[in-house]
Amino acid sequence: MPPLSYQQAVEIVLQHAAALKPGGTERVSLLQSSGRVLAVPVRADRDLPPFPRSTRDGFAVRSADCAERKVSLKIIGEVRAGTPPDAMPRAIVQGECIEIMTGGPVPAGADAVLMYEYAARDGNQITTQRPVPSGDNIVPAGSEAKSGAQVLPVGLRLSHAAVAVSASVGWSAHEVFTRPRVVILPTGDEIVEVSSAPGHHQIRNSNSYSLAAQIAEAGGEPMLLPIAPDEPARLRELIREGLQGDLLLLTGGVSVGKYDYVEQVLAEFHAQFHITSVAIQPGKPLVFGDAPSTMGEARRVPFFGLPGNPVSTMVTFELFVRPVIDALSGAIPRARRFLHAKLAADIRTKTGLTRFLPARLRGSGDDTIVELARWQGSGDVVATAAANCYIVVPPDRERIPAGELVPILLRGADL
Ligand code: AMP
Ligand code: MG
Repeated sequence: MPPLSYQQAVEIVLQHAAALKPGGTERVSLLQSSGRVLAVPVRADRDLPPFPRSTRDGFAVRSADCAERKVSLKIIGEVRAGTPPDAMPRAIVQGECIEIMTGGPVPAGADAVLMYEYAARDGNQITTQRPVPSGDNIVPAGSEAKSGAQVLPVGLRLSHAAVAVSASVGWSAHEVFTRPRVVILPTGDEIVEVSSAPGHHQIRNSNSYSLAAQIAEAGGEPMLLPIAPDEPARLRELIREGLQGDLLLLTGGVSVGKYDYVEQVLAEFHAQFHITSVAIQPGKPLVFGDAPSTMGEARRVPFFGLPGNPVSTMVTFELFVRPVIDALSGAIPRARRFLHAKLAADIRTKTGLTRFLPARLRGSGDDTIVELARWQGSGDVVATAAANCYIVVPPDRERIPAGELVPILLRGADL
């Protein structure tokens, strides 16, 4: 099978992800809910805001009185944030105003708030310094949300802003979907545990740890298996264990090397392969498929065979694994979004592959530029850790000149 394009591969992953379901639901307190996915929608228990709210410190006025720039008004009372209904001053009539603080309920009769800065005060009189249009500096009751309206939908991953909405409408706990258990299975004869003193020829296992970090950040629950050697018997045992989870991520052993056994052993478990390579760099030998759960249930467990090179593992996770974790978490799976930034220096590459090259974004506003990291290829975790994004080079571009706007892949959950 020839490699799929990046776009084709994303579509296949999204299509399979759409059929996946979360395992169950659980109740979590609001403080624990950030990053979790709502299983029950949140509704407003009252209008938001519950009363017409002043957004400024100043004077509540009748806009009809203030059509001209300079008008004299008499101050007949004061409203502060928290003034209860029975302590509110009476409604204002023509020629009157009420001093009001930010967050205070706008008193009856008033339909606008004039900021202190535009009022000259003299005892209990003010002279306005500008006309005041109706509605100025007032948020009408119920304009943010009406009582009973859905304010957060099922499938939403709770951001800090969504947590604020929940708190505002009295939801001190949430019913959320359980986190998918994502099993990590590293492979390779040369790979040893972090705590061991590696021989000259050995490489410490970094993929399990970078993946665990990415999984946790993506809302999954990482579960680490021991390192599988490049030998079918032990690999078989560990894959059997891995297929008990909700998603299995293998790293290494998916290239065409003589000792790359991952696909062969997965096939023994009646795996179906949806993707076996993608025309991207890093990450070309990416494998995606599913196999029957080894828990004796009817469900099939999606798996990825991620290329072993550490940067390949990181990039393919961002591009392809994240939407599957979303789906298994009850969130709507979607492709990564790319922003654009101005290229600092020319890029030259060979055509044929979509490339995701470690880069550094710096500056701000119109001066934001992005520059390729100097790296030693897809094993270079040091350069990648010093970078903060990836420049996306389309497969048909041999040269991209400095100054061109290029797509970039930022790291992180909101993109
Ligand atoms: P493979 O995909 O098995 O051909 O591995 C490609 C490269 O990634 C090799 O240089 C491996 O040593 C390296 N590699 C594979 N697995 C890991 C891992 N778990 N941690 C760090 N490097 C790895
Ligand atoms: Mg290997």
